[in-house]
Amino acid sequence: MTVEQRRILATEIPGPRSQALHARKTAAVSAGIGTTLPVYVERAGGGILVDVDGNHLIDFGSGIAVTTVGNAAPRVVEAVTAQVADFTHTCFMVTPYEEYVAVCEKLADLTPGDHEKRSALFNSGAEAVENAVKVARHHTGRDAVVVFDHAYHGRTNLTMALTAKNMPYKHRFGPFAGEVYRAPMAYPYRWPTGPENCAEEAYAAFVDLVHSQVGEENCAAVLIEPIQGEGGFIEPAPGFLAKVADFCREHGIVFIADEVQTGFARTGDWFACDAEGVVPDLITTAKGMAGGLPLAAVTGRAEIMDSVHVGGLGGTYGGNPVACVAALAAIETMEAQDLPGRAKQIEAIFRERLDALAARHPERVGDIRGRGAMLAVELVTDSTSKTPDAALAGAVHRACAAAGLVTLTCGTYGNVFRFLPPLAMGDTLVSEGLDLFEAAFEEAVNDV
Ligand code: PMP
Repeated sequence: MTVEQRRILATEIPGPRSQALHARKTAAVSAGIGTTLPVYVERAGGGILVDVDGNHLIDFGSGIAVTTVGNAAPRVVEAVTAQVADFTHTCFMVTPYEEYVAVCEKLADLTPGDHEKRSALFNSGAEAVENAVKVARHHTGRDAVVVFDHAYHGRTNLTMALTAKNMPYKHRFGPFAGEVYRAPMAYPYRWPTGPENCAEEAYAAFVDLVHSQVGEENCAAVLIEPIQGEGGFIEPAPGFLAKVADFCREHGIVFIADEVQTGFARTGDWFACDAEGVVPDLITTAKGMAGGLPLAAVTGRAEIMDSVHVGGLGGTYGGNPVACVAALAAIETMEAQDLPGRAKQIEAIFRERLDALAARHPERVGDIRGRGAMLAVELVTDSTSKTPDAALAGAVHRACAAAGLVTLTCGTYGNVFRFLPPLAMGDTLVSEGLDLFEAAFEEAVNDV
């Protein structure tokens, strides 16, 4: 690793060169492309981002759960460099190559279930989700898709319809694709009758929605994130996921797990479904799979994936060879370094610190949740009303940035502070990042 794994503050954040670049960005890039932290990156390695002003920032975001193996991970760099020199593109639909096939073989090995599987590769999470829905509709001959409150599945037309949150994802971008139905999410912290009733009652509401508004025989797919990402790192109440999967099996509905954010070691298992023994019919993956290169997949039961006519799936760049070798190298790294195990170690460090924070601030830290290195704190104005406190989340985020820690917020109400460190990050950097977060929180909580 050539980037020193140490935080260095050389200038204020953002520094003068970043500010100058940001002025150029404003003049050249659409205002519709937002920027969480206008610090312009020049190099990165492991869990450190180096900006154009020479600051070394600790990365608790992994580019939204992508650089799981670390930024510019050595195996990925080596594989990509060699592949770029060999060939960059042929289009797998025109003249194929082994690397694509090898990624699909790996996906069959690693994803939940030991049934026969097939995969198809794409460029982005949204594209994978769109294709999973296409496959499910084609296989079943049915139209309807059921999704959940707080869901996030992407920004294309169909995935906007599948996504729950209006601002910023859907606002004035309609009309949206039809035959999408939304059920309540089993969200323990905010379940009206208490977390102990959540799985049972949310399941009953889901069954009622499918029966009364859709009709089981019209339902092609149920699509769910096994732990919701952008919607607030919401872990469904234990048992909910398995009940929904069983219901789908009973009614010939394709159960699709969207593991674009949770997949590939992030949650302490290879996939979040593993923790509950749930085997989806189709699973969508992207993000962490390819160490930073754009690659996504739909993997699923052979009889479902093979039901599509020849030529029905594809795309010019899907499964690009450079992205495929990056995925093979990233997965090799995850296996060699036991990154699912590393995610559990990171969770233990975070939990201890976050639990102590919650004990000091029981009025403002409403909930701590997540699994592995996908953890969050939900911030509220007070523990009685549980009113979401987006202002506090924003203030903590800004204070972290000023101290050289890159963080992300999420949630339907913008009040969830989430942690997605690269699994390559060492304990010292994890602890230092947590020190900075705690200090930022203590500072912000007195002001907001
Ligand atoms: N599904 C989930 C669960 C996601 O978290 C995301 C991205 N945040 C997507 C789909 C869309 O992925 P992409 O941005 O690569 O299109």
